[in-house]
Amino acid sequence: MAERVTQGTLFDGLQGSSEAGPWTPGRWAGASQAMAPPAPEAVELHSDVTTLEDLREAVLECKRCDLRSGCRGVVFGEGDPRANLMLVGEGPGAVEDELGRPFVGPAGKLLDKILEAAGFARREVYIANIVKCRPPGNRLPTPEEAARCLPNLKAQIRVIAPRLIVCLGALSTQIMVDAKARITSARGTWYERKGLRIMPTFHPAALLRDPSKKRAVWEDFKKVRAAYEDLRSSEGAGSQNPGPQNAGLRSEG
Ligand code: SF4
Repeated sequence: MAERVTQGTLFDGLQGSSEAGPWTPGRWAGASQAMAPPAPEAVELHSDVTTLEDLREAVLECKRCDLRSGCRGVVFGEGDPRANLMLVGEGPGAVEDELGRPFVGPAGKLLDKILEAAGFARREVYIANIVKCRPPGNRLPTPEEAARCLPNLKAQIRVIAPRLIVCLGALSTQIMVDAKARITSARGTWYERKGLRIMPTFHPAALLRDPSKKRAVWEDFKKVRAAYEDLRSSEGAGSQNPGPQNAGLRSEG
């Protein structure tokens, strides 16, 4: 039977407290105005999709917000479809839009180095963004754009069923952890819910602007590595992500 993911079930309470309500458009710190909630059908978007390839085909056709008309194409994401570790950035930049791949520009090259230093091969993790289409001028997505795209990300997380997620940057953190979170204080901390652990850290682009942040990111990724090793040892070295059936991420809806 198709699983259902209702808005808020994946993201609410992620601070380890039920006090943090579900993310809604317009709630994050960068929002300048309250936005209309996504259309009701968005709640169940892709609920019948069970494979990442099918989801990819569906999302590549997405035109749910105006970003699609201003970019070359949808940058769906890439990596191991059964990755235990997923990284979620903000949105594609110019190089990503041109190549159709996430994190392949200057910030992506730095991310590759960070992953390598932490002992991860890029192919063993999964990399995606909050929005799948490039915002013009590399601006941040608006709350409405993020809201429109959120069902796509939720479906990705449901199908991949990672055990660990790293939020790259403030926007990803505010959407996935707490709308009021500040990256400077939220980074380096694990936020848990139902077997899914989320770690915010600085976006690699922030490191390019301010290299003094590299030390903090290195410390964060050491924690990510340790958690990853704990997973491997608790489930048996070499064990693979069992998929959504066993990852504790199915919706109650
Ligand atoms: S950004 Fe997301 S919601 Fe908007 S058109 Fe692209 S895939 Fe669809």
